[in-house]
Amino acid sequence: MTIVKLNSFRNTYGPTEDSHKRFVENAVRLIEDTVNQASFINAVKEYPFTVRRFHTDDDGIFISPTNDMIIDKIISGKERQTDPDDSIDLEIELMGLGDDETGRVSPPSPAIALNTKHFVGWYGNGDLAILASTIMHEWMHVCGFRHASGDIDNDDVPYGIGKLVFEFAGGSSIMSPLGFAKRIFNSKIRRQRRMYKDAVRGLRTDVYEGLPSSHLPMSDNDSLQ
Ligand SMILES: [Zn+2]
Repeated sequence: MTIVKLNSFRNTYGPTEDSHKRFVENAVRLIEDTVNQASFINAVKEYPFTVRRFHTDDDGIFISPTNDMIIDKIISGKERQTDPDDSIDLEIELMGLGDDETGRVSPPSPAIALNTKHFVGWYGNGDLAILASTIMHEWMHVCGFRHASGDIDNDDVPYGIGKLVFEFAGGSSIMSPLGFAKRIFNSKIRRQRRMYKDAVRGLRTDVYEGLPSSHLPMSDNDSLQ
């Protein structure tokens, strides 16, 4: 069993509201429910990732992990430069980001920044699956996965895993304390899919911001098999 823990949640943009924290906690439970499903793991095993850029614990060393290695990172909850502990550890903060930026991770910090405006929109619509998939996308960065340098590919590892979490979270039987989760999933899943696609289109290469340029991989040639 892989645990998913919300170690911290704060709003750097305004007051932290209990209702927002509960919304995040619901998403965290959805992620935990999802990553522990055998069918989710099978879907990751089969996923045709187009970009597999992974920053190892050694600075400057990038590899292209197999699907099994990607699964191992998820179920062992191994954040970059930490030991595997069967726990996906989340530090989430709401932040004022540009309208076209949904989330951001600035390695080596494990903090996940989410755009407060986007978050409030999801909260208002009860779009829990989008929140869960966005958090998982950003956690893949905390884990060490990167987008292709200078470009975004919608089937790279963070986006691919985000899409799978979205699909599986949408089909999950989990009920939130607010009581809306399953009902929303069943009645609005198609609308959520459209929104997720829009969100994906609007996302930028969040992970490179905040990294000194010397840490940027210059081309695919620095990936080791
Ligand atoms: Zn990203």
